[in-house]
Amino acid sequence: MLEREAAKYPFLREAVKLVDALNLQLDDLADPSYSKVLDRAAERIIQAIEDGAIDDRLDDYMTELLSFPVAAMFVTVKGEQFLSRRYALAEAVRVYFLLQEEERDKLAQIARDDFGWDLKDSGERYDGVLHDFQLHFGDYLHSSGSFHEDKWKLVNRIVKNGYVLLTQREVARLIQGEVETLIKERVSKQVKINLPEPLQERLNRVSKVFEENRTRLGGEDLPSEVINEAFPPCIRYCMEGLLAGRRASHMERFALTSFLVTVGMPLDRLVDLYTSVSDFDPAMTQYQVEHIAGVRGNRTKYTPPLCDTLRTHGICRNKDDICERVKHPLSYYRIKARRLAYQRPQPQAQPSNTPKPSQ
Ligand code: SF4
Repeated sequence: MLEREAAKYPFLREAVKLVDALNLQLDDLADPSYSKVLDRAAERIIQAIEDGAIDDRLDDYMTELLSFPVAAMFVTVKGEQFLSRRYALAEAVRVYFLLQEEERDKLAQIARDDFGWDLKDSGERYDGVLHDFQLHFGDYLHSSGSFHEDKWKLVNRIVKNGYVLLTQREVARLIQGEVETLIKERVSKQVKINLPEPLQERLNRVSKVFEENRTRLGGEDLPSEVINEAFPPCIRYCMEGLLAGRRASHMERFALTSFLVTVGMPLDRLVDLYTSVSDFDPAMTQYQVEHIAGVRGNRTKYTPPLCDTLRTHGICRNKDDICERVKHPLSYYRIKARRLAYQRPQPQAQPSNTPKPSQ
């Protein structure tokens, strides 16, 4: 297997063999020549905690490849089930986006060789939709078992001679589920390891970010009602763009949806918001909103990305004074909500029933 392939999919058997062949020991990783690997491993987990997604660094294949088992070891040693789930999901989502763009042969090879699926080429078109693949119904039922939305139910699928027709994106989504399970199993073991100092230092870095984000990830300490006037400028930008009919990028939709879900907007209102002002497919919109809200699929509730991430995607716009103090749109929301509550006129004091002293 090429190193580049292994770096993209480091959980595959061939990639694991490639790493095993290096026979690296813990003490080897403590050598300064591996500091980039340790930094990238910590970064993978920190991105999973903060953004719920991990980006690719394929410019340096070996660092990217080696950082995966090191990151998995850090998560295992940390021993927090919540972190294990969040990390596994973030890695799986990364793979989902890669597989959607992957060559069909490669995707089929992963499905067959690593997950043992009976997957064949299809190329059939129904209702104008190209179904690239067909998957044996037994494998389909097994891999889609945890999906609850109607579109995955076998009765709603096109089945031919015992095979379920699927688009490339659907196969990628099914593989995402398999990858998530694989990684979750790997990082959920109970282990105690004394890490050499340079590794422990990176794990401490991860632990600090994890503790700082514990509350935010749970969406705690937010106002009990949705306060539109407290939305940060970036979220207003996304919302106003949507209302004006501007085509929203994937990140804009993700930022807006995850923000509104976290501050407590009811899901039906959110779906209505999208479908009433744009030509989004209602079923797909519902699926995406419910997925981000954690009521479908893997049941993980996504939180909005950090300001840094929104800045990178050109969504951080019209900053104001509160923006100078925050690193996360939810922090902005909390501060602004408190400020508004403070500025709101206090209710007039009720006239006292106590009789006035006689003149
Ligand atoms: S600084 Fe943060 S909260 Fe303010 S607009 Fe930019 S991304 Fe939004």
